[in-house]
Amino acid sequence: MNNFLLKSFFSLIMAGGIFLTSLPLQAQNAYFFPNAQHFDNNIPTPESFLGYKIGERQTRYDKVVAYMEELARKSDRVTIETIGQTYEYRPQVILTITSPQNHGRLDRIREDHMQLADPAQTAPSLENMPVLVHLGYNVHGNESSSTEVSMLTAYYYAANQDAETEQYLNEAVIFIDPALNPDGRDRHTNWVSMHQGNPPVSDPADREHNEVWPGGRGNHYWFDLNRDWLPLAHLESRNRLAHFHKWLPNIYIDFHEMGTGSTYFFEPTKQFSSENRLVPRSNYDGLNNIMAQYHAAALDGLGSLYFTKEQFDNIYPGYGGTYADFHGGLAITFEQASSRGNIQENSLGELTFAFTIRNHTATGLATVKGAVENRETFLRHQRAFFHSALTDAKKNPIRAYVYGETADASRLRTFTDVLLAHQIEVYEVENDQNIGGIPFKKGKSYIVPTDQPQYRMVESVFAKTTDFDDSVFYDASTWTLALAYNLQHAEAKSSVNKGKRVAKTTAENYKAPEKSNYAYIMDWADYNAPAALYSLQQKGVATQTIFKPITAGTSSGEKSLSAGSISIPVSVQKISADSLYKVIQKVIEENGVPMISVTTGLSLEGVDLGSANVKTLTKPQAMILTGQGVNSTEVGEVWFLLDEKLKMPITKVEMSSFAGTNLSRYTTIVMVHGQYKNVDDNAVQKLKRWIAEGGTLITFKSAAAWAIEKGLAQGEVISPNDTAKAERRIPFADAAATEGARSVGGSIYLVDLDLTHPLGFGYSDGKLPVYRNSTVYLAPSKNPYSTVAQYGESPYLSGYVSQANLDKIKNSASLLVHEQGLGRVIMFAENPNFRGTWYGTNKLFFNALFFGSLINTPGNY
Ligand SMILES: [Zn+2]
Repeated sequence: MNNFLLKSFFSLIMAGGIFLTSLPLQAQNAYFFPNAQHFDNNIPTPESFLGYKIGERQTRYDKVVAYMEELARKSDRVTIETIGQTYEYRPQVILTITSPQNHGRLDRIREDHMQLADPAQTAPSLENMPVLVHLGYNVHGNESSSTEVSMLTAYYYAANQDAETEQYLNEAVIFIDPALNPDGRDRHTNWVSMHQGNPPVSDPADREHNEVWPGGRGNHYWFDLNRDWLPLAHLESRNRLAHFHKWLPNIYIDFHEMGTGSTYFFEPTKQFSSENRLVPRSNYDGLNNIMAQYHAAALDGLGSLYFTKEQFDNIYPGYGGTYADFHGGLAITFEQASSRGNIQENSLGELTFAFTIRNHTATGLATVKGAVENRETFLRHQRAFFHSALTDAKKNPIRAYVYGETADASRLRTFTDVLLAHQIEVYEVENDQNIGGIPFKKGKSYIVPTDQPQYRMVESVFAKTTDFDDSVFYDASTWTLALAYNLQHAEAKSSVNKGKRVAKTTAENYKAPEKSNYAYIMDWADYNAPAALYSLQQKGVATQTIFKPITAGTSSGEKSLSAGSISIPVSVQKISADSLYKVIQKVIEENGVPMISVTTGLSLEGVDLGSANVKTLTKPQAMILTGQGVNSTEVGEVWFLLDEKLKMPITKVEMSSFAGTNLSRYTTIVMVHGQYKNVDDNAVQKLKRWIAEGGTLITFKSAAAWAIEKGLAQGEVISPNDTAKAERRIPFADAAATEGARSVGGSIYLVDLDLTHPLGFGYSDGKLPVYRNSTVYLAPSKNPYSTVAQYGESPYLSGYVSQANLDKIKNSASLLVHEQGLGRVIMFAENPNFRGTWYGTNKLFFNALFFGSLINTPGNY
């Protein structure tokens, strides 16, 4: 039956409410599990537990968890564990489903499995070793069919009594993660539920099918969790990764939905160009094709249409449908055309929620079948994978990557934490050394040998990607984390003396300096210094910033401080020196940053503490413009950064309410990439007045271009490349590739940063890697002091870019300021907060927040 016929068949069942309620319970089982015979009546079906049929409604996440708990209570095949909770305090749960006998020996199964994956140990016998199958549902919250599938699938394996199922449960351990993104799921669930008609409305124009901005795709902070497996910016991902590495599943399925007009997609993805060269071909050409037969058979059996091979990136290890490929498993993405609601018209008729659930259920069950029937193949693949990691590493001329950072212990530690979460072996450097002309200091540097089972992850974190099979990228084409963290790093071509292996990092335990009656000073280099500053401001402490580098004398010796260091004079405070000291102690303890105390304003070198170059700071009061047309991910990144890193509130204002908002309470307004057509001329004038009165407008990418276009800032936007359009005739079939090559999917460049500008404070190296994923090119400013960061003649570092685009990037501006009246517009050509992982450029944004209001170029510009 094709999609349409099936639809009609199901609408028949779904249409008559009376008929529906009188159907026996088994009717749903027959629809979703047409080939299964015997179910244990003591195990409640989702329908009997929820009070409605799966597919009729969207199930709230708490009810999903309650049903899963009920299964664990009723079935000796099922256990449930909580692996963490989300920002909105929803539990993250994982079910373990296997035979009762396997449940009795789970620890042993796990130990054997770890032994299998460890090339340093002999291989255990495969005979009684179950294959591990992990089914991960609903990472994108508004692709909601799959969480419903998780209930049906858990029910199936808990209740089905066919001999085949018993065999599968003997030979497999199945993990079910019902929703990787519970917060986003409930956002979407509530949206659909509150708009659901009775009878249901299939008209695509209905509100039910059109979520309001920002929709349910992302997590609480609107991040795409299906990009977070590598950077681990979010707690959901960190909790999940711990479970992943505890088990190293042999097959991992990531369930998705795509456009309503599409059909179904399963892997293989596009050969070579969508695949990662670090992953052995046996994954793509072997396992993927084996499993494709099972998934095809499942959908053929239902008459459902599908496709493979044509698309979907499978390169980036930060995807759920890819991460396991880097760990000896097979990761697969499933994409089902979405009904985005309960029923929606498409070109083939009407697509019901139940139909989408049925397809995903069928392919999920087929995965378990395929995994069991090829159990030894999967286990052998995993064994061979980690062996070949070591042999591949030996072919690599790089023996180790060394990285370090002397001024910013927090950034260094966070990076090391990410490596450790990926089970990458990290060692201390034994003594100070120089590698590739870069000095690495003991205690502030680490070594990551390539010769280790996680070789492929090591390469993913450190290696630059500069050579591609294709020019079209669905997304980023590079993810070199060492560059994102702006850490000094080098490739060691001969072996490096390594010290102790790092088991876990510990935060620096900075002691408070001696009490002072004169002033305290905090260096601005540490990643946490802005959080500490905000904490001081929050507590009403008066703070200043020193615009020049100085050397101060302290009781423990001389201390050099970079420009931007924070001075906290004692006598000007409203509280006593004793009370201030208590605040200082608390801020140091809570933020893990060092401070010094001085007893004199006279610096050993540089300006003194009463200089005009020491400027009083005001506590930032920030607002960000939001709403339809604005890039919700970039808004979320700013929100996340302020919440999680600074503990600073930010007001999220809808564009439609902007005209009625009193701007005088804000020091700072942020506009990220997006379309601002809804900001009308009156609002633009209002913004202009606010800037002239001293406001700081921070803009990213197209918002910077918008500010220039609207006359809020002077500047010049360089027109994007139009080479392809200049060619008069190109084959139709090449359109996707040609147009794709014209975009900048995401690549990394080096810019030159003015360390003396307030926006460059806290950096010690003027060469800064930035991440660019747009074709907004800004010309350098006419004011020679205002191009804070600029691309040079050879800025390219990593990722795909066409020559035409690279030519536009060369010598263009990366960060600009335009001053107007008492205020200014700060223009970023890139997004400095990309994916919550660009710790290196976050400081530019922090500087814009805290120091923006102090930018006032001498002279007449
Ligand atoms: Zn998706």
